[in-house]
Amino acid sequence: MSKFDYDLIVIGAGSGGTRTARISASYGAKTLVVEADRAGGTCVLRGCVPKKLLVYASQFSEQVSDAEGFCWQVKDYESNWGELIKKKNKELDRLHEIYVNLIKNSGCDLISGWGKFISPNLISITKDNNEVIQVSSRKIMIAVGGEASFPSFSGNKHMIDSDKALDLKELPNSIVIYGSGYIAVEFAGIFNGFGVDTHLVFRADKVLRGFDNEIREYLMTSMAQKGITLHKEVTISEIEKVNLNYSVKLSNGKNLIVDQVMGATGRIPKVSKLGLSDIGVDIGSRGEVLVNKFNQTNIKSIYAIGDVTDKVTLTPVAIAEGHAFADREYGESERFISYDNIPSAVFSQPSISVVGLTFEQAINNGVKAKEYKSEFRALKNTVSGNVERTLMKLIVDERSQKVIGAHMIGPDSAEIIQGIAIAIKAGALKSDFDSTIGIHPSAAEEFVTMRS
Ligand code: NDP
Repeated sequence: MSKFDYDLIVIGAGSGGTRTARISASYGAKTLVVEADRAGGTCVLRGCVPKKLLVYASQFSEQVSDAEGFCWQVKDYESNWGELIKKKNKELDRLHEIYVNLIKNSGCDLISGWGKFISPNLISITKDNNEVIQVSSRKIMIAVGGEASFPSFSGNKHMIDSDKALDLKELPNSIVIYGSGYIAVEFAGIFNGFGVDTHLVFRADKVLRGFDNEIREYLMTSMAQKGITLHKEVTISEIEKVNLNYSVKLSNGKNLIVDQVMGATGRIPKVSKLGLSDIGVDIGSRGEVLVNKFNQTNIKSIYAIGDVTDKVTLTPVAIAEGHAFADREYGESERFISYDNIPSAVFSQPSISVVGLTFEQAINNGVKAKEYKSEFRALKNTVSGNVERTLMKLIVDERSQKVIGAHMIGPDSAEIIQGIAIAIKAGALKSDFDSTIGIHPSAAEEFVTMRS
């Protein structure tokens, strides 16, 4: 008989926590999942999935104008945001049920409530009806994710975060979005697509710090062409509620009066109410749970994966970390995930997808790099009259001739870069790209026809 109630407790039923629990249980570990909100987590319920649904929805306005370019006569059209949000939420309910079933059908117990550490092997769970129970486990996995973080200034409480932006009952007429990271540019595209007067306010000279500079400029040009007002190298100094609107004071002296203000100034690990410091778990300067390569904290029985570790805050990474943990701990396979060449996409309009190093990063890493690029107007846009252009880049290590980076801004970039990521992960040379026959006519074929 084990002296613990469970072999494993997973706190957080998001994508990473659910994968950890399911795979661990499949190896025979007696597993409990504790979730304070609904099973599904940030990506499924408050992030990637609803965001992408709204990105799709917002693109129809441009598609109508593209259709007119192709000589369709479009008479009347209008969106119904309220109905859309209801339909989106119905889909999220369905996904939530799938997550509950995934957890239960894999043999795990699931308790709805807030988990808090009491000791390295014991947590309390405050259930939804306020009943508090204590449960012990040999190992405990923290997979609670992150939450929005706003800079402090007067009136910052008036900003909504992306959770709320995804669930607005009514579409605002105008909005200020603060920040220029993934979330800010994605939501700017969504609101603008629905005809909202959209202002992006950010402190840097370009959006999306860390991405290829030319791609950043391309996105800014496209956003401006589509009607988004960019306020660069500016911060918000104050937000005041004036009747039903908000008055947003900017550091350049301007004042914007809008219906809604959204903050997208980064996310931080959601650790504040877990009781981690009380039991001595080491926490980093951004509040992240510090882990070793086994995803283990300084307390041997406690592990963490995903956004709460603030390493690579992407859903597929959390899932991979959780799966590898389960394989190692219960499946007897000493497997670790690779953090090299992780592809990612920004669902801005147009979208951006990348894998590997930018030219600047390669040079800074001491690599003798060469950049190949292709810039064009997609075939569809020639007749539609859409002015949007596509930019693609390959970064090649001149010594080894390996392709070490691929970058794209343009339609379907995520669908294209996923395949390129396999080639780069497999160590493909530039000559392998060159000897691959292109699919014609497509944008993707440009990746195999780039010459210096
Ligand atoms: P990001 O880290 O991407 O961007 C944060 C933005 O806020 C930057 O523009 C940053 O400016 C700005 N900022 C930070 N602090 C301040 C401050 N004190 N004052 C003014 N501006 C500030 O965070 P997001 O919130 O957009 O997204 C969080 C994470 O979620 C992402 O890093 C990503 O990993 C993940 N995500 C992934 C998505 C995807 O895969 N498609 C979609 C959405 C989120 P500066 O650039 O100057 O530092």
